[in-house]
Amino acid sequence: MSTLHIQNTLTRQKEKFEPINPPYVGLYCCGPTVYSDVHLGNTRTFISFDLVYRYLKFLGYKVRYVRNITDAGHLTNEAGEGKNRMEDQAKLEKLEPMEIVQKYTVGFHDVCRIFNISPPTIEPTATGHIVEQIEMAQQLIQNGVAYESNGSVYFDVRAYNEKGYNYGILSGRNIDELIAGYRDLDGQEEKRNAIDFALWKKASPEHIMQWNSPWGKGFPGWHLECSVMSTKYLGKQFDIHAGGMDLKFPHHECEIAQNVGACGEQPVRYWMHTNMLNFNGQKMSKSLGNSILPMQFITGDHPLLDKPYSAMTVRFLFMQSHYSSELDITIKGLQDAEKGLRKLMNAAKYLKELQFDSITVEEKQDKWIRDLCATCKEVMDDDFNAPKLVATLHELATQINIYYNNSKKINNLSDVTYNSLLATYNGFLFDVLGLMEEEQSGDNTALDKAMQLIIDIRKQARDNKDWTTSDKIRDALKEANISIKDGKDGTTYEIN
Ligand code: AMP
Ligand code: ZN
Repeated sequence: MSTLHIQNTLTRQKEKFEPINPPYVGLYCCGPTVYSDVHLGNTRTFISFDLVYRYLKFLGYKVRYVRNITDAGHLTNEAGEGKNRMEDQAKLEKLEPMEIVQKYTVGFHDVCRIFNISPPTIEPTATGHIVEQIEMAQQLIQNGVAYESNGSVYFDVRAYNEKGYNYGILSGRNIDELIAGYRDLDGQEEKRNAIDFALWKKASPEHIMQWNSPWGKGFPGWHLECSVMSTKYLGKQFDIHAGGMDLKFPHHECEIAQNVGACGEQPVRYWMHTNMLNFNGQKMSKSLGNSILPMQFITGDHPLLDKPYSAMTVRFLFMQSHYSSELDITIKGLQDAEKGLRKLMNAAKYLKELQFDSITVEEKQDKWIRDLCATCKEVMDDDFNAPKLVATLHELATQINIYYNNSKKINNLSDVTYNSLLATYNGFLFDVLGLMEEEQSGDNTALDKAMQLIIDIRKQARDNKDWTTSDKIRDALKEANISIKDGKDGTTYEIN
C-alpha cells in the first residue's frame, strides 16, 4: 500500500493518494502550444511532471500518461477576438501552419530527449480531435450550459452556476468580480456575459485552420481540447491533472466547467500545479523577453550565461527545489548544481566498483544507512519532495566516498542493508530523478583516469611524508591550470 500524499490544488489540502482503479493511474499534463520553441520555464514544468510520472511507476503503478500537443485553438488573446498562434507564426515565418506545428513539435521532442523527459504513453493533438470537440460542444448546448451566437459557441457561465455548480472552484475566483473586470473589453457583443468563453469560434475567411461544424466553418476553443482528450483516454473521472500554475485560470477552471457541464461529475481527483521558473526575479516568459532556450544553456550561447551547462546540470538544479516553489535561476545555482551532480554521479560510479565484504556489521552504521534509504522513499511520498531526496542522496554519497577511499570495501554493513543501498541509490538517482550519465568525450574519461592515478600517487607520497614528490605534483598541476582539493569526501580536481 502506498503512503504517497499529494498537495491537491483543488481542495488546497495534502491528501493521501488513492487511485480510482489501482494499480492503474491516469495522469494528464497540458502540453506545449507548438508555435515557438519551448523555453526553460516550460521545460521546468515538464521535468516536474516527469518526476511525478517516474515516481508513480517506481511505486509500481501502471500509469497511462497523456500529454497533449496544442496545435490549434490557442488564441493570442483569450478574452477577445485573438488570433490563432500557429497561424500568426506561420505568416511571420512564411510557412504553412502545419509546418510550424511540425517544426516546433520536433524541437520540443529534441528538448525532451536531451533533458531525459520521458515520452508520455499517449501524445494526442487538438487537430486530431476536432470531431470529439464538436460533440462535446453539442452536448453542452443540449445540457443548457452553452449557446450558439453568430456561428460561434460559448459556454454560459451564469447558467452553469444556476444549476448549482461552481465556476471558480479551482481558482477561488468569484464570477461577479470577474464580470466587472471584463466589462470594458471589446468583442464581447456575441456573448450573454463577458465571462462566457468560446467552445467554438467562427472562422473569418482569412483563417487558414478551419473545419466544418454544425455552426459553419470554424475552429475549437483552447480549453475544450484538454477536456476532450483527457476524458477520452483516461475516463470521465481520472486521477491526476497537471500543469503550470499560470494555467489554473482560466484554462483549468474552464476545463472543469466543461467536463462537469457535460457529465455532471468532477473530472479529476487530484489537481497538481507547478510553480514558475523565474529569471532575475521575473517569470520566464516570451512576452517579457527574458526567456532562455534550453539549448542555449547547453551551448552557453546567451549573454546572461557565463559558460555552457549540461542538460543534466539544469535538470539537477530543478530537482533541488520543490515543484510548488518558485525557482529563480542564477549562475551561482548552476555552478553549485554542477558540483553537486558530479558528486552524486561519481558516487554512483564508485558504488559499482566497491566490493561487499562484511566482516563485522557495525549496528549503528548499519541502521544509519538503512534509515537513510528509508528516508528517500518517505520524502518522495510527501508530495514528491525532490530537494529532500537530493539532500539524502548527498549523505549516502558521502558515505560511499568514504568506503571508496578506504580500500574500496564495504565492510561494516549487513547484506540486507548493502542491497538496499545499491537499489536505493541507483533507483532514486537514475529512475526517479531521471538523471543520467552524460556522454563524456573519450579524452575526458582518459583525463579522469589519469587524474585519479596522479591523486593516488600524491596520496601515497603524502602518507610516506615524501614531500618532494607531493610538491612536484602540486606545482606541475598548477602549471597545467588544474587545482586539486582535499575534502572530507576525498580528493577532487578541477580545470581552472
Ligand atoms: P504553453 O506552451 O505556453 O501552453 O506552456 C506549456 C507549459 O509550460 C504550461 O504548463 C505552462 O504553465 C508552463 N510554463 C509557462 N511558463 C512557465 C515558467 N516560467 N515556469 C514554469 N512553467 C511555465
Ligand atoms: Zn490543457
